[in-house]
Amino acid sequence: MTKTALITGLTGQDGSYLAEFLLAKNYQVYGMVRRSSSGSLERVRHVAEQVAVISGDLLDQFSLMDAIEETQPDEIYNLASQSYVPLSWTQPALTAEYTALGVSRLLEAIRRCKPDSRFYQASSSEVFGQPDESPQTERTAFRPRNPYGVAKAYAHWMTVNYREKYGLYACCGITYTHESPRRGQEFVFRKVTQAAAKIKLGLAQELKLGNLEARRDWCHAQDAIRAMWLMLQQDTPDDYIIASGETHSVRELVQCAFDYVGLSWEDYVSMDPAFYRPDEAVQLVGSIEKIQAQLHWQPNYSFQQLVQSMVDHDLKALSQAGY
Ligand code: GDP
Repeated sequence: MTKTALITGLTGQDGSYLAEFLLAKNYQVYGMVRRSSSGSLERVRHVAEQVAVISGDLLDQFSLMDAIEETQPDEIYNLASQSYVPLSWTQPALTAEYTALGVSRLLEAIRRCKPDSRFYQASSSEVFGQPDESPQTERTAFRPRNPYGVAKAYAHWMTVNYREKYGLYACCGITYTHESPRRGQEFVFRKVTQAAAKIKLGLAQELKLGNLEARRDWCHAQDAIRAMWLMLQQDTPDDYIIASGETHSVRELVQCAFDYVGLSWEDYVSMDPAFYRPDEAVQLVGSIEKIQAQLHWQPNYSFQQLVQSMVDHDLKALSQAGY
């Protein structure tokens, strides 16, 4: 029987990959989109005819109830949020409205309208902020250090509470940074792969970066969304860390990308204090023991494959654009 999925955040990186992934599994896919974001359907243009777009907004309780009533989803993936950490400091209340209270509204809508649907909540490694241990596990205490992390921590615990209180099949996936060619260029990974490609093609001469020693646990968005789906196919709902299980520095990222295009990064990269973060999170790395053992999941892309596939993509896209 065909399953039905409702995705919030359809137009984002993860939403667009998840839509593709579910369509390939013959799901009927609905994407919930804010009226105001209708200009940004670029990432889903290639599947636009197969995805039914319905309007709804995490700020509006009734719109969520209507969306669930109308689509009767078997699975709901909440991938929408205000996810850019620096912006969460300039718009902390709006970040909380979408990222924290939006999840309360969605859980209430599920409980009232379709309590047998399965729910995936996109938690984030930002909930750990300054953790007591490394690598972090599903039992590591949350100590978020920015408004985005605080909002995600609230959403995480609300999801757990609705599971325990109302028996919903509701899960949190604590994702670490995940990247792809669809990642916005304000994030360092894409910024670097794009710059390496541009410099290689003679379209740029330099790359300005912040802290080269910052480390992240990076995996491919396609690996991450496969884990999200797996979480909703189990006998019992649970929370899992979704990560690569290893960290790499921005310096290693730059080196890997420039090596790949045959350039020496030191000739092009300079430091710009504008990209330094005064409140840099410590170096987060996730333990993937639980998800490996219980869901038999592990990333398909290594760090090097991730960097190289993104540089390849950027080289190709720039060449096709006629540069
Ligand atoms: P996020 O902080 O994990 O959401 O992702 P980012 O890609 O924005 O940042 C990852 C890390 O790269 C952070 O520790 C930044 O301090 C560091 N970084 C170093 N240079 C840059 C830069 O030019 N832009 C961004 N966005 N981050 C940088």
